[in-house]
Amino acid sequence: MASNDLMDKLVSLCKRRGYIFQSSEIYGGTGSVWDYGPLGVELKRNVKALWWKAMVHMRDDVEGLDAAILMHPRTWEASGHVEGFTDPLVECSNCHRRFRADLPEVEGGQCPTCGTRDAFGEARQFNLMFKTFMGPAEDSASVVYLRPETAQGIFVNFQNVQTTSRQKVPFGIAQIGKAFRNEITPGNFIFRTREFEQAEMQFFVKPGTDDEWFEHWKAERMAFHVSLGIDSDKLRFHAHGDDELAHYAKRAFDIEYEFPFGWKEFEGIHNRTDFDLSRHEEYSGKRMEYIEPGGGDRFIPYVVETSMGVDRTMLVVLADAYREEEVEGEERVVLGLHPKLAPVKAAVFPLVKKDGLPEIATELNQALRKAAIPSFYDAAGSIGRRYRRQDEAGTPWCITVDGETTENQTVTIRDRDTLQQERVALDQVVGWLQERLGG
Ligand code: ATP
Repeated sequence: MASNDLMDKLVSLCKRRGYIFQSSEIYGGTGSVWDYGPLGVELKRNVKALWWKAMVHMRDDVEGLDAAILMHPRTWEASGHVEGFTDPLVECSNCHRRFRADLPEVEGGQCPTCGTRDAFGEARQFNLMFKTFMGPAEDSASVVYLRPETAQGIFVNFQNVQTTSRQKVPFGIAQIGKAFRNEITPGNFIFRTREFEQAEMQFFVKPGTDDEWFEHWKAERMAFHVSLGIDSDKLRFHAHGDDELAHYAKRAFDIEYEFPFGWKEFEGIHNRTDFDLSRHEEYSGKRMEYIEPGGGDRFIPYVVETSMGVDRTMLVVLADAYREEEVEGEERVVLGLHPKLAPVKAAVFPLVKKDGLPEIATELNQALRKAAIPSFYDAAGSIGRRYRRQDEAGTPWCITVDGETTENQTVTIRDRDTLQQERVALDQVVGWLQERLGG
């Protein structure tokens, strides 16, 4: 399938099934901002919950944090963002469209929109931070920024978290939250947007142990993505060369996925050294030093960061799960999402709308809901059509209440991927699903 085709199909499926809508669509949409619908919000919550479980709940050396989006403006001077968080921008002299100067299709000098040759003058640096004002006065004293990364909320709270949690270095702080970047050329659906969510973890280590921890986190993060059921042949590391390294980084590896539009990063693992804490010490005048217990060494910790885009990971998961196949002579579209990611875990169908089957199915649906298993009752259309709708939505199991149910209190459970049907006792269905969904 051509890459554009696949992206178009994915965008259309996401809209049709209630995963992702364009922001403010009734007004013609907002540039590169997206809203998550009923299924999308569940998928997103599942991605975030699995990350939090792996990074915070299952480890005793990582603490959670939820810092505010608005921070003291000095934060962004200290971090280097006011001065250096820029992309080179060029403008076409003919159509006045603006582009990132480092895009391959722009580097040749021809405008990708109107085709004018030698269209661009000198590139100028464009700061990607959104600026706004705090309080009623719109003057330079009240300027604040929407954070372009969640990491700085962690750095400024390093001492607060360390002392209150009584963690000892090495330890980490994890947080999930919104970040904003006024990208010059957003696009590819939810791949590059101006408002997005990051799941970041800063791991504070003794200088000299940073390379070892870097390897540890590289392996952990790759294993996490494989555990989501993502095809490991489509995952790889990309090491940053010296020319790609950010101003703060000693080493950086991207985790890339082979999207329909090519291999691209969706998580970064960075050795940020003591850059951020040292800068905050310098700009705030507050000590960021860590003193080892029992009269040990004093040092400003080095930081190994793992920085995952939540929305980009959703695109990875969705693109990886999408498939078209022929079943019993009929085309079907399937989102083969891992059951722990699937927004709806089970659909419940009465085979026919009579003989008391809808009542039994409704009751079963209620029992699943009570057990906090997201489920969906559907009595509309042929059973084949109902299956297809759920296949597209990524629902792993479809449960059918049929004639046998009234005789022997069993139902069939159909597996989305293998299409195998199993008869299960009505009163065992909740347990059957819980067993497969795990804790
Ligand atoms: P890129 O080179 O694609 O702009 P980056 O190297 O600037 O990304 P980081 O600053 O390392 O990205 O951010 C970490 C993660 O945050 C990225 O791997 C990505 O998943 C996500 N991210 C960054 N910018 C965006 C964006 N504009 N839209 C969606 N996700 C983003």
